[in-house]
Amino acid sequence: MVSTGCGRKIVEDGSSVSETYTAGPVAALRRIAFLMERGREETRRIEAFRAAAAAILPLPADEVADRVESGTITELAGIGPSTGAVISDAVRGVVPERLARLEAEHDGPLAPGGRALRAALRGDLHCHSDWSDGGSPIEEMAFTAIELGHDYLVLTDHSPRLKVARGLSAERLARQLDVVDAVNDHLGGAFTLLKGIEVDILDDGSLDQTDEMLARLDVRVASVHSKLRMESAAMTRRMVGAIRNPRTNVLGHCTGRLVTGNRGTRPSSDFDARAVFEACVEHDVAVEINSRPERRDPPTRLLELARDTGCLFSIDSDSHAPGQLDMLDYGCERAEEAGIDPDRIVNTWPQERLLAWANG
Ligand SMILES: [Zn+2]
Ligand SMILES: [Zn+2]
Repeated sequence: MVSTGCGRKIVEDGSSVSETYTAGPVAALRRIAFLMERGREETRRIEAFRAAAAAILPLPADEVADRVESGTITELAGIGPSTGAVISDAVRGVVPERLARLEAEHDGPLAPGGRALRAALRGDLHCHSDWSDGGSPIEEMAFTAIELGHDYLVLTDHSPRLKVARGLSAERLARQLDVVDAVNDHLGGAFTLLKGIEVDILDDGSLDQTDEMLARLDVRVASVHSKLRMESAAMTRRMVGAIRNPRTNVLGHCTGRLVTGNRGTRPSSDFDARAVFEACVEHDVAVEINSRPERRDPPTRLLELARDTGCLFSIDSDSHAPGQLDMLDYGCERAEEAGIDPDRIVNTWPQERLLAWANG
């Protein structure tokens, strides 16, 4: 018998070769969703698989198996014909057809380059849960980060002014920190979900969260999300103001540009990049290499300028769904192409060094 990973096993009994599936229906549904997310398929099509996994997770395996045999699995709330078919195959030990197809389409590195750097990354400093505009619960993001081999993941939901993304008030953020503690208690120490925020940089360069709450976090990413077309001198003052804030650790997607994708395209903001990157060096703030294909931020010219200015970097997924955590592949390829020394990339560092830097 040969294990091919992800619950699939090749069984040879002399006369025939067959493939069995042993990981169970929840794993099959989660893996399908993961592969669709990393392949950037439409969120609405993926949600059904996440919802179906959540629907059967609390049920005893016997009950799920009985429903498959009696043909009543689709009577459960949240299970439709296609998710029911996946569950039925998995319960019977058959590789679900949809899963096999997605493994063939979407498995393997997302980018050919940057493989050594990707292997050197220990975690990710930028992701969103369904507490703001992400699609999945906090614990699902954490589980997937563990499956990807991360030592840590910083949860960085949005700040209050970003109302379209359900930014967290100080009160909601305080509640979220209790949830992060609870998740870590259950995970038992090898992996840590770190406390963070993607805090809006307001027009005057101040940060959109109380200093008291920012002080309670492990890592803070500061990003511009509004008035992206501000005049250059004002935008430079705004960004440098945020970089000077002693709480700021990472400057998120610095130009705000969108180069592709269903949100359309958008040009880079105008600012004095040299002044901004010099401020990052002076105040020990890392420049984010945002891995999302629709952002590719900073553009190559600015990435090289930040490199030559002596900046630190953070290669972040900015993921809004678990499968997007894998998009670090894209950022690693760009960092490698730009010849950035891995030791200048803060998420190659062990957790203790990262936390000492972020809170020094
Ligand atoms: Zn952002
Ligand atoms: Zn973000």
